[in-house]
Amino acid sequence: MKVAENQPLDRLNTFGISARAGILITIETEEDLLSVPGFDPARDFVLGGGSNVLFVTDVPGIVYLNRLSGIEIRRENPDEVLLEVGAGESWHELVAWSVARGFSGIENLALIPGLAGAAPLQNIGAYGVELASVLDSVTAWDWHTATWVVLSKQECLLGYRDSLFKAAQPDRYLITSTRLILKKHFTAQVAYSGLAAELEKSSPGGTSLADVFAAVIRLRRKKLPDPAVIGNAGSFFKNPLVPATLYQQLSDRFPALPSWDAGGAGIKVSAAWLIEHCDLKGFEMNGAAVSGQHALVLVNQGQCSGLAVWELAQLVQARVWDTFGVRLEPEPKIFRFAEVG
Ligand code: FAD
Ligand code: NAP
Repeated sequence: MKVAENQPLDRLNTFGISARAGILITIETEEDLLSVPGFDPARDFVLGGGSNVLFVTDVPGIVYLNRLSGIEIRRENPDEVLLEVGAGESWHELVAWSVARGFSGIENLALIPGLAGAAPLQNIGAYGVELASVLDSVTAWDWHTATWVVLSKQECLLGYRDSLFKAAQPDRYLITSTRLILKKHFTAQVAYSGLAAELEKSSPGGTSLADVFAAVIRLRRKKLPDPAVIGNAGSFFKNPLVPATLYQQLSDRFPALPSWDAGGAGIKVSAAWLIEHCDLKGFEMNGAAVSGQHALVLVNQGQCSGLAVWELAQLVQARVWDTFGVRLEPEPKIFRFAEVG
C-alpha cells in the first residue's frame, strides 16, 4: 500500500480535469484493505482507470486507487474456462490476453478503457455484448461490515449500464476481483450494425476470434474521440429507456428518431440523435464542448474545469428536456464535494 498526501488527479482521469486528492492510497494487495481508514462517500472516492468519472471539485478525503493485479484460470473443461481477474488489471489487456489464448466472449468489448474492477459498475457494453453475458461473480470489500463478500451475477443486479454497485448500493463495495466464464469454442457475435461490414473490410472472408477482435478495434479507433488526444469519458449520457406511451408520442412527432426494443425495460432511444436535434453537436462553453465527432461525448478542449463540463452537461439535459420531454441521465460518476454546515 502506498499513501501520499495532497496528490494531483489530473493524469488519473481521462477527462484530464485538474483536481486533487487530500490523500491518495494505492491498494496493491487485498490485505491492504484490512488497515485502511474506511470510506465516507461524501469525501472519499474509489478510482480505477478514471475513464468514467468527472471531478467537479477536489476530493477532500481519500482517493483509493485500485491496483490489485492478477489473472488466473480457476477451472476449465473442454468447453469453458473460469477466470479470476484482479480488479486492477487493464480491461483491454484482459481482452487481448483472452483472445491470444482462444478464450472468447469479451472480444466485442475490446478497447474499452479502464480497469476490470470497474466493469461490473455499469455492466460495460459495446457492439451488442455486455459484461453480463460472461460474468460469474464478483468479490468485493464491504465498507459497511469491513469484510469480503462474494456476489453472484444475479446479486449484482446488472442492467443497461447499471448494477447494484451503481444504483441500489452505491459506494458500499470496493470490488477486488471478478470471475468470468469464457468459451473455448468461438461463435462470432457480429449482428450489431457496422461490425459485420468492418469485419468483411478488414479481414475479407475471416470470422475468427482474432478477426472480430481486430475489427472492433478498427471500428472504435475510427469513430470515437481518443482521450489521449482530447479529454473525455466516452458517452456522457446513457441512451434513455422510455415507456411505450412516451415512445409512441415521440415517434409520431419524430419518425426518424432511432430506437431499439429493450425488452421489459422499455424502448431505448438514441441520446446522440436527441442532442444533435437540439443543434448542440460541436457546441462549446467555457472550454468544454459537445464533441463535433460524436454528440454523446463531452470533451475537455484543453484546460477546462470539471465544473465547466458539468454546467455544459446540465445545459444539454435542459435543452433535451425542453425539446423532447426526455430526461438524459449522465453515465459517468460525478464527484462533487459539498461542504455541509
Ligand atoms: P473509473 O472511471 O475509475 O470509475 C468509474 C466508477 O466505478 C466510479 O464510480 C468508481 O468509484 C467506480 N469504481 C472503479 N473501480 C472500482 C472498484 N474496484 N470497486 C468499486 N467501484 C469502483 N463504457 C462502456 O460500457 N462501453 C464502452 O464501449 C465504453 N467506451 C468508452 C470509450 C472511451 C473513449 C472512454 C473514455 C470511456 C468509455 N467507456 C465505455 C466508459 C468506461 O471506460 C467504462 O465504464 C470503464 O469500465 C470504467 O473503468 P475505470 O476503471 O476507468 O473506472
Ligand atoms: P453506434 O454503433 O454509432 O450506435 C449509436 C447508439 O445506437 C449506441 O449508443 C447504441 O446503443 C445504439 N445502437 C446501435 N445499434 C444498436 C442495436 N442493434 N441495438 C441496440 N442499440 C443499438 O455507437 P458508437 O458510439 O460508435 O459506439 C459503438 C459501441 O460502443 C456501442 O455499443 C456503444 O455503446 C459503445 N460505446 C460506449 C461508450 C460509453 O462510454 N459507454 C463509448 C463509446 C462506445 P448502446 O450504447 O446501447 O450499444
